[in-house]
This record gives sequence, structure tokens and C-alpha cells, in this order.
Amino acid sequence: MSVVPQLFAGVDLGGTNFTTGFGDAEGNLRFEEKHATRAQEGPEAVLERIASSVDALARRAGAGPAALGLGVPGLVDMASGETRFLPNMPTQWRNVPVSAILSRRLGVPVYVLNDARAATLGESMFGHGRDARTMVLFTLGTGVGGGIAIEGRLHLGPMGSAGEIGHICVEPEGPPCTCGSRGCLEVFASGPALAAEGLRLVRCGKAAGLRVICGGDMSRISPETLGEAARAGDPEALEAIRRAGALLGLAASSVVLALHPDLIVLGGGVSALDSLIIDPMREAIEQRVRMFPVHDLRILRSRLGDRAGVFGGLAAAVQGGLGPSRN
Ligand SMILES: [Zn+2]
Repeated sequence: MSVVPQLFAGVDLGGTNFTTGFGDAEGNLRFEEKHATRAQEGPEAVLERIASSVDALARRAGAGPAALGLGVPGLVDMASGETRFLPNMPTQWRNVPVSAILSRRLGVPVYVLNDARAATLGESMFGHGRDARTMVLFTLGTGVGGGIAIEGRLHLGPMGSAGEIGHICVEPEGPPCTCGSRGCLEVFASGPALAAEGLRLVRCGKAAGLRVICGGDMSRISPETLGEAARAGDPEALEAIRRAGALLGLAASSVVLALHPDLIVLGGGVSALDSLIIDPMREAIEQRVRMFPVHDLRILRSRLGDRAGVFGGLAAAVQGGLGPSRN
């Protein structure tokens, strides 16, 4: 009789879709399903849909998971497993006892954490971070999130919020940010920020290459088409990405000085710009960090890509939550 490895479940909950995965403790994802969140139906319905997807995968796997880790888009009280504020979900999920509800329904321990922190943990345990001592992740998506993993464990702080490095200020008098401050990295390096900059250029009669690629359809302006234009030789598209990359490097240099990581990982849609954004980022770090050498600092695109969140949930389940916190 073959020994079936113990399986764990990871869930990545987003405003539009959620993904549920079953995998083993080594990070081999065995089964995966994606569903619409239908967030407008409220927390109870969404949590039941998540539980049903776990049931469905358990039927396929022939066994239920030993534990479940769930990444959510917002603020969580990690000790109680209650959501505090999910800004992109209707009703904003104030004080929903997510961990208690799912754990009662499924009969296994359930660990809830912020989605960017989940992605950080996933990348740390099962991605490029496996051999890193200190890893920092920037998720460059609709917003800019992040996380810090030290010796394979997340640095969380009292509210699980340590690692909000997308809200490091890079321009003191800059435009207002959704967090209430101004001039945050997120204002300049998120997907929508890059798209808006591309749109501004085209409207000013610049970035002719980008205009051609989009065929005059302004709705096609995105970080991807901006990158395409830059690679095809549009100097203004290239410069727009370089500016965002330099500000990313400016924010990262503060993180490097504070933590001296050996690895920085970029996730989210904007990370697909790859060397277009990594090169100016690295230049800015080398320019700003003078107290110690940084030539051996690795800056890489996420190995797990858009699955980092599911792997993160899986990792949290495998770790048994996040273990005794030293934070
Ligand atoms: Zn901010």
C-alpha cells in the first residue's frame, strides 16, 4: 500500500476570484480550483463557497486537508482570525470571525493572513526564497503590497501589518494615496499608476510607439503595452518605466538599509516588466545604499507568479499558522 502524503489547503481570496489549492508539505500543488468570489453576496455566502471548494477538492484528493491557510485582501487580526477591514470587498468584512466559521464548517485549523504577507510566505517557503536568509517581497499590482520573511518566517508585527512597504514615502509632497498619506510608492509604481502615466503621455502627444501599439484605443494602455512600447524603442515609454523603477529602488533602499536582505522578489502584474523595471531599481539601490556593499543583493521576479497567494495559504497551513511569534 502506498503512503499518501498529508495534504494541506491554501486559499487566495481576491475581490473578483478566489483560488483554492491542495498540496503537500513540500509545496507540490496537487489540485487547484478557481471560482468567482461574488463578494456582493456578503461574507457568509463567500465563506460557504470557499468551504464547498475545499469539499470538492477533498473528494478529488480522496482526503480532506490537515489545515487551511487563507490570504485575504486587507487587514486581519491574526490572533483571533477575524477580518478587520477589506477595502475592496462590499461590507468591508468588519470583524468577521473567518477562522472560527471555516474551522467549524471544515473541522480543521484555519489560519487567516493578509494576501501580500501570504504571497511573501509562499515565495519564502516554496519559491526563490527557499535559500534566502532575509527576503523582501514587493507585490506590484492594483496596489503595492509587500512582506518580509526572516529565516523562513514572516515578520508580522502586532497586527500582521509589518511589511506594508508599498506605503513608504518616496515624494514628501506627492499626490495623495489611498492609505491617507501622500507620495507613497504605490502612487507611482502600481499597475494603475503606470497605466495612468502612459495615458498622460499619449494625451500629451508623446509616446508615439505606445499609441501605435494600442491602435488609438486608450483603454488598451496598461503596464504590459507600456512595456511592449518600451521594448520596441519608444523612449518616453521606457523613461516612464525607468521613473517608476527608480522610485521603487528609492523605497527599496530604505528597506535594504533597515534589513539588509539577500533577496528582493517582485510579484504582481507590473513585475512582468522584468529588466525594464529591475535595472533602474537596482541602480537606485546602488546609488542610495553606501553603508555596505549591495552588489550581491538578488532582485528577482516571483517564481510562483500569480500562484504565490495560494502557495502562501498552503505554507501557513503547513507551518501551523505562523508558529510562536517572536514579533
Ligand atoms: Zn500610501
